[in-house]
Amino acid sequence: MQDLAVLGGKPVTTEAFADFPVYDERDEAALIEVLRSRQWGGYNPKVKEFEEVFAEYHGARFGITAANGTVTLESALLALGVGPGDEVIVPPISFIATATAVLRVGAAPIFVDIDGMTSNMDPERVSEKITSRTRAMIPVHFAGQPADMDRLLAIAADNGLFVIEDCAHAHGASWRGRGVGSMGEFGSFSFQASKNLTAGEGGILTTNDAELAEIAWSVCNQGRRTGGEWYEHVRLGTNYRITGWQAAVLLVQLSRLRDQIETRQRNARYLSDELADLDLITVPYIDERVTDHSYYLFLLNLNRDRVPGLTKNAFVQALIAEGIPCSAGYPYPLYRNKLFVDHEEHQFDCPQAERMCNETFWLSHEVMLSTLDRIKEVVTAIRKVIKSSSHLVVPSI
Ligand SMILES: *Cc1c(COP(=O)(O)O)cnc(C)c1O
Repeated sequence: MQDLAVLGGKPVTTEAFADFPVYDERDEAALIEVLRSRQWGGYNPKVKEFEEVFAEYHGARFGITAANGTVTLESALLALGVGPGDEVIVPPISFIATATAVLRVGAAPIFVDIDGMTSNMDPERVSEKITSRTRAMIPVHFAGQPADMDRLLAIAADNGLFVIEDCAHAHGASWRGRGVGSMGEFGSFSFQASKNLTAGEGGILTTNDAELAEIAWSVCNQGRRTGGEWYEHVRLGTNYRITGWQAAVLLVQLSRLRDQIETRQRNARYLSDELADLDLITVPYIDERVTDHSYYLFLLNLNRDRVPGLTKNAFVQALIAEGIPCSAGYPYPLYRNKLFVDHEEHQFDCPQAERMCNETFWLSHEVMLSTLDRIKEVVTAIRKVIKSSSHLVVPSI
């Protein structure tokens, strides 16, 4: 039996996984071009060019860039007139911004459990939480797998709710051939350093509605209006602009996205096939209506009942020791953060979210961008850790 690296044995690999973000002389040339243009700010023409190209890539008519993928959510809510007294339905499995954006505009986030198979917001549970105050929902395309937009859009239409798609994990993903961010009133994307498409920081809203696009742009640009005077301000706005530098890098980065998605999809297929026979680990379930999964995260579920006493953290630490970068993921659903525990009266009735936090961990998109040889090492490491998993159980006193 091979000894686990975490217990002092030899790791499966010590070689680093794919360098990310990827860049070459094209990114460098784009940055030099901005430098020499002396137009470094948010009105550099590359900003508008990127907004158009990115929106079109996702099948949306308009793109409005902003400082990050948190203020994009806030700006979308503001543009839709969501505010104090309103409720917004959000999943408890997401980054905190999905819920805090709602609080930042004075509305209340209402947590709806996830579907245990997809880890996306469960449409069957959404209806139960709709009240006379509900104005909108923010489904997250978690890990890069689009949420069930057929059901969510139907529920939204039946109840007069706005839909803001949180696409921060899902650049380039699609649902039945429709790009994410093109189905709800708004799509919101992040270009923060950890995301599949990045300029270090940044974000964008997409929409098909010309009026919403104008309002969102105005909110992010000091309340200006298109065609208005520089010192004319028609509404309360702020400065959420990105810089010319970011747009220049994003334009080049976007040209690589399709190939990167295909590499991640190939690796995901390989991992899913190779790990399909395992008892202790379950590979991700993909809804057959998903036409492109962006694999921001490759979710693996640890079936803890198979090895009593084995924790997700112990398993993940063992895999990391074998040289495989992976994350134990969220420690608990969003509503268990102090922010909510102290200030909100929440019923913690999201059993699937609780289970997921106890059992699901993930490989990051950098790993998913590696060559097939490296992915084979991932399989070797997972099988090795599983084989010795009983050694990872801390005896209870
Ligand atoms: C990263 C992320 C955000 C926030 O984006 P920032 O650019 O970091 O502000 C919002 N929602 C989700 C689901 C995210 O993963």
